[in-house]
Amino acid sequence: MNLLDQFGPPVLPTGLGPLRTAVREFVAEWTPTSTPEKRALSWMGFDADFSRLLGTKGWLGLSIPKQYGGHDASPFERFVVSEELLAAGAPVTAHWIADRQSAPLILRHGTEAQKQRYLPAICAGELHFCIGMSEPASGSDLASVRTKADRQADGSWVLNGRKVWTTNADRCHFMIALVRTDPASERHAGLSQIIVDLTLPGVMIRPIKDLSGHEHFNEVTFDDVRLEADALIGVEGDGWAQATSELAFERSGPERFLSAMTLFRCLVGAVGPTPDARQAMEIGRLAAWLISLRSMSISVTAQLASGEDPVWAASCVKDLGTGYEQDTVEVAMRLIDSLPPGEQAATTRRVLAIVQSMAPSFSLRGGTREILRGILARGLGVR
Ligand SMILES: Cc1cc2nc3c(=O)[nH]c(=O)nc-3n(C[C@H](O)[C@H](O)[C@H](O)COP(=O)(O)OP(=O)(O)OC[C@H]3O[C@@H](n4cnc5c(N)ncnc54)[C@H](O)[C@@H]3O)c2cc1C
Repeated sequence: MNLLDQFGPPVLPTGLGPLRTAVREFVAEWTPTSTPEKRALSWMGFDADFSRLLGTKGWLGLSIPKQYGGHDASPFERFVVSEELLAAGAPVTAHWIADRQSAPLILRHGTEAQKQRYLPAICAGELHFCIGMSEPASGSDLASVRTKADRQADGSWVLNGRKVWTTNADRCHFMIALVRTDPASERHAGLSQIIVDLTLPGVMIRPIKDLSGHEHFNEVTFDDVRLEADALIGVEGDGWAQATSELAFERSGPERFLSAMTLFRCLVGAVGPTPDARQAMEIGRLAAWLISLRSMSISVTAQLASGEDPVWAASCVKDLGTGYEQDTVEVAMRLIDSLPPGEQAATTRRVLAIVQSMAPSFSLRGGTREILRGILARGLGVR
């Protein structure tokens, strides 16, 4: 692998200015209706009405074809909308997974009936999806998935097993689950992806409290859940390849370096226009890092737009990006007692407490740091 080929020129196409301005004006109007504490949740903030509003604005399903309710735009449009929303701390989690990866997956692998059924409602911000990959004994080692779907004589499926850490399962309509459909198979073979209606009998969803007291992820148990034949998405047995091809989408976007943006903005506001030397150095370093990460993310977006599968570069963005987000917390902790007293310092302290309690998860969700570094090492030929 030649490292110089991994990141092309980070250039956004021209002509995206009006879209950026429209989103920026929209969030500027929305911001006073929110609080810094809510914005600190970043893309974990849930607001179904807000997602629907984005749908009516035409800002969801941007790269989905018009015939399925989308907008036939490029991934760059989605990049611009995403970064403006995330930079403002808008509550996007209701539609996030569906828009980022379920819709592209359904478009790529789904039947015509599945496309017609799911895509228009996703583009309208009305249908929310979650990711059912991790299990109690299958996290980093995803190929050890044991949840199974048994095909019945009439083509339907019976689902049994358990998923865990499923973000928003308690508030989503559907899960795309990675399951074993060949009982005799092992590891990567014999896995498939299925769409599970989370309201079906036999689905039990138990919220799990995280370190910060939030209940955003869940344990989901399937007990003889009966699924129609068309619950299968894509090719039976190709689940591993299908699921891993989603990873570049999952790991390279601006959500991998903007999770602590509200804290960064609060910090800059609280320091004010006359920082001391230490404040200027720390904030300047964060700003330089942020701009570099953004360039890398745009570069990966360009590769995705041209149909490539830039797993190595996306892993790099996620590893460095989540490190940056966690470092923002460290910097804020170092600077917090040096802030000029006042309301902005008090707000920054409260926002810091929220982001600090979320920060350990940044380098776990979507693949842990160690797993990403394994991918990077393999790409470099040192493993
Ligand atoms: C906030 C949050 C949201 C999440 N949302 C979802 C979701 O919506 N859907 C979903 O399916 N999952 C979700 N997850 C689960 C997440 O993907 C897993 O936590 C992650 O993949 C790690 O799996 P694990 O927790 O089982 O840890 P383990 O795999 O048991 O790992 C434990 C530790 O060992 C290290 N380790 C494991 N294997 C290796 C190795 N081969 N080499 C070196 N080190 C290794 C890991 O890096 C980690 O530090 C979420 C997690 C979090 C924190």
